[in-house]
Amino acid sequence: MSEGAVKKEEKPRKFQAIRGTRDLLPPETALWNRVEQTAHEVFGTFGFGEIRIPIFEPTELFARSIGEETDVVSKEMYTFVDRLEKLPDPPTLGDYGAFIEQAEKLMATEELPSVPGNRLAIERMKRIWDRGNVFGTEGESPIEKIDSAVLEELYKMVVLKDSMELGQSISLRPEATASVCRAYIEHNMQQLPQPVKLYYMGPMFRRERPQKGRYRQFYQIGAEVLGGSDAPAIDAEVIEMVMTFFDRLELQGVQLDINSIGCRECRPKYVELLRAELLKVKDKLGPDSQRRIETNPLRVLDSKLESEQGIIATLPRIADHLCEDCAAHYAAVKRQLEMRGVIYRENWRLVRGLDYYMRTTFEITAQGLGSQNAVCGGGRYDGLVELLGGPPTKGIGFAIGEDRLVLSLTHHKPVPQRRAIDVVLAWLSPAAYTKAVDIARNLRREGIYVELPAKLMRAGDAVRYADRIGAFFTLMIGEDELKSGELTLKHMLRQEQIKITETSLVDHIKKRRELKEAQ
Ligand code: ATP
Ligand code: MG
Repeated sequence: MSEGAVKKEEKPRKFQAIRGTRDLLPPETALWNRVEQTAHEVFGTFGFGEIRIPIFEPTELFARSIGEETDVVSKEMYTFVDRLEKLPDPPTLGDYGAFIEQAEKLMATEELPSVPGNRLAIERMKRIWDRGNVFGTEGESPIEKIDSAVLEELYKMVVLKDSMELGQSISLRPEATASVCRAYIEHNMQQLPQPVKLYYMGPMFRRERPQKGRYRQFYQIGAEVLGGSDAPAIDAEVIEMVMTFFDRLELQGVQLDINSIGCRECRPKYVELLRAELLKVKDKLGPDSQRRIETNPLRVLDSKLESEQGIIATLPRIADHLCEDCAAHYAAVKRQLEMRGVIYRENWRLVRGLDYYMRTTFEITAQGLGSQNAVCGGGRYDGLVELLGGPPTKGIGFAIGEDRLVLSLTHHKPVPQRRAIDVVLAWLSPAAYTKAVDIARNLRREGIYVELPAKLMRAGDAVRYADRIGAFFTLMIGEDELKSGELTLKHMLRQEQIKITETSLVDHIKKRRELKEAQ
C-alpha cells in the first residue's frame, strides 16, 4: 500500500468539547471579562480580597463538608486516584519484605494514604511475613516447592495488597466554600484581623445532566466571610454586596428570597414536627418526597411537583418554630436589609439540604433563564471550619452562577459587538513596511486598535478590507507618502480622504473615535 492510501484511510478523528463543557468565544468573552472586572471592583469596595484556590482537592474535603449523602458528593464529582510512583510494582513472590518496608516509609510521609485500611493491611502482611520467609529465597524456583499452606499465605498477601488504597483520592472541586475554609485553617487566618473577607471566581465541576443554564464545567463567583462574629450586620452586608453587584451590571428581574433555617437547637425539633406532619399526608406525596420524609424532610419543601403544592402550603413553617436567639437574629437581618434599602421576599420554603447550613439562607433569581433561574445561592455555615478541624468559627457566603448571570444579561441586552478596529494600516510598497511597523507600534502604545496586514496590499483591497472588519480608518503608506512624509488617511464612514503628518495622527484618530463612541 502506498503512503498516500494509508493517509486517506486514517482520517483523523474530529474532536469535540466534552459533553457539558463549552468554549467561550469572542465577542462574548468581553462580557465575561466585564462581569469579572465589575466583581473585582464592587467586592473591593466592600473590603474583600481575592483568593485563588486549587481546582482539585482531596475527595474527603468535599465529602466531609458538603456531605456524603448529597447528590453532589455521591454522584456528581469527578474523582480519580492520584498516581503513586514510588511503591514497588506488585510484589513478586519473594519481594514482600521490600514492599512492606517501602509502604511504611511512604505512609509516614503521607505519600501513601495513611488510612486505617492501609495500616491494617500492612500490619497483617507483616505478621505473615515475620513468621518466616515462607515464599522461598531469590534464585530458587519457589513455585515448585510451594505446598498448600504456603499458597494460602500467598493468597492472603495478594488480597491484602489489593485492598490497599495506593494513591490519594482527588476530586475536581464542585464548589469553593470547602476550599476557602481549608485555606483559612491552613494559613492560620484566625490570627488575622477578623472577619476575614474573601472572594473567588473560577470553574467548578459537577457531573449533572447538561441543559440550558446547567453545565458540567460551570463558573462561579463567590465570597465568604469567616471569623468570630455572626452579627446580623455581616449577613446583611454580604447580601447588600451581591445586590450592588447585580445592580451595577443592570441585571434584570432580580428577586431576592431569604429565610432562616434555625440552628442546632431549634432545627431538629422543627424537622421532627415536619416529619410527623408529612407522615400524616404521606400517600398524597410523590415517591421522591415520600423517600425524603425519612432521609431529609426539609427537602420536601423544595419540591416543584404541581400535585404537591397544595399539601406543602399547609405544612408548619420554620419561622414559627425558631428558638429565641435565631428569631432575634433573623429579625435583625431583615431590619438591617431594610436599612440598606435591599428589597427582599421572605420564602419559608427556601432550605439548604446540608447539615452545616444554619440561620440565614438566601437565593437570587433573574429573568430569561427558564427553570434554571437561580443565579445566586448563599447562607450561613457557622460549624463548617470546626468540622474541617479548625477553630470555632462563624461563616457566611454565597456563590453566583456566572454562566447563568451572563445568559440573563445577554437575554436582556445582546452581546456588544467586538470592539471595532480603529485603523487598518496598509503598506502599499515593500519599502513602506518598516515605516508601517513603526507607526503601528506608536499607535498601539497610545491605546489605538491597529490592524497591520501581514502582506502588501493595493489601496483598493485595503479599503475593502477595512470596510469588512468595520474599521474607522484606513491609513495608507506607499512610495508617495514615504517621499512627502505625509500619510493618507481615509475616514471610512464619511468616505473622505486627507493627508496627515505622523505627529498629528494620534490626536486626530482619538478625537474621531470619541465622537463615534459618543453617538
Ligand atoms: P440548582 O438548584 O440550580 O441546581 P444549586 O443549589 O445546586 O443550584 P449551588 O450549589 O448553591 O447551586 O451553587 C450556586 C449557583 O451556582 C447556583 O445558583 C447556580 O447559579 C450555579 N450553578 C450550580 N450548578 C450549576 C451548573 N451545573 N451549571 C451552571 N450553573 C450552576
Ligand atoms: Mg444543583
